[in-house]
Amino acid sequence: MKPLLKNYLSLSANSSAAKGVVDERLKVERRKDHYSHYILRLAFSGTEDLRRRFARVETMLFKLRFQEDDGRERRAFVDSLNLSWDVVADDEKRELYDQLMAASPGLKRDEENSWFKVNWTQVPELVEHRTVLVRKGKAYVPMREQTTMVVNEFTSRLERGLELTARALPRLDEDDRLSPILSHLSKNFAAPDANFSDSDSSLPGAAINAANVDNLSQHFPLCMKNLHTTLRKNNHLKHYGRLQYTLFLKGIGLTLEDCLMFWRQSFKNVTDDTFNKEYRYNVRHSYGDVGGDANRRGRGYSPYSCQKILTEHPPGTGEAHGCPYRHLSIDNLTTMLQATGVHDRELLRGVKEDVEKKRYHIACNRVFDWAHKSEIKKVKDENLWGPAELDTIVHPNTYFKRSYLLRNLNSIPKQDVKMEE
Ligand code: SF4
Repeated sequence: MKPLLKNYLSLSANSSAAKGVVDERLKVERRKDHYSHYILRLAFSGTEDLRRRFARVETMLFKLRFQEDDGRERRAFVDSLNLSWDVVADDEKRELYDQLMAASPGLKRDEENSWFKVNWTQVPELVEHRTVLVRKGKAYVPMREQTTMVVNEFTSRLERGLELTARALPRLDEDDRLSPILSHLSKNFAAPDANFSDSDSSLPGAAINAANVDNLSQHFPLCMKNLHTTLRKNNHLKHYGRLQYTLFLKGIGLTLEDCLMFWRQSFKNVTDDTFNKEYRYNVRHSYGDVGGDANRRGRGYSPYSCQKILTEHPPGTGEAHGCPYRHLSIDNLTTMLQATGVHDRELLRGVKEDVEKKRYHIACNRVFDWAHKSEIKKVKDENLWGPAELDTIVHPNTYFKRSYLLRNLNSIPKQDVKMEE
């Protein structure tokens, strides 16, 4: 983040004026910082998910700045917060000294140590990592953990602020200038959005046809594997599942004719007549063969990115679309991963942690990297791919293409083993 901040959002310490930074520049920096912060608050307060995500990254920024700040200013800032922390008095410190030392790894007995006392709920991370003594509802926090406490305080104040903003948001509904801008900002946030280009679907020598989808499904990300398995099990998928899957199949390079054939053969329990009446049109529509505005005619719709799948139309009962990392309980997700051959306990633990932190696409990437580790090593060792080609996956079709290319390293000519065109 540091080079980006330096270029776009630098924020010098107040004391830097003494070191030659012009006062006017300090004001401009602060104004820019305030504007951007409050614009983002507006854009990211609409849903609980956006609030949580925004609070997480804004907290990271705050932490970085707090740690970088000039020591004297940091102290003045902490004093100005009026936080309800009690410094542990000397007699209490003497009484609890052994327990305090035992609960504070890294502190040395012969050093001058001091502790704060706060409600344990203010420092859940420290409690979770067993690095504080907890007694009668109070956590005894070593002074050096002050940053954690200030940062937690920042997060909880920000979260409260975001909730207040969310309540005020409906008043903006009638404003057709701001609302679209705000909603556009927040849409690109859940996972970095990925645009899909036609070149993404080109795969040298791959047999992409209706008969081969079962075989190709070994390269699908979990969201699409889930749709495929459900389709095979029920011989049917509900509307959003069909839409998500059709666009994905289109994205891997399945032609309209093959896609229609695939759906027709998969819906074993419906007659030709019903299929033609109820399902054919939507598949053609997705491909831009019928309907739509002039813009989409001939092209249809783009395959959904992770960001879109993660944030729009959460699946209801009996529906299989969406992202399993996001929309399934951790138990069901684990069972699903195990059914696809993922049994590594360390990996499953990592996935669980990512999911708990709402980093769904990171969990997905973790599984990808695990499943393709030897191939990834090979393309790195042989300099076949640069870092950009192994960048975090944020689109199911990128997952497919990367998996397909990696698994077929030996059968595809080297110059064709490329993610980017
Ligand atoms: Fe699919 Fe993206 Fe979820 Fe992975 S993170 S399962 S590719 S939606």
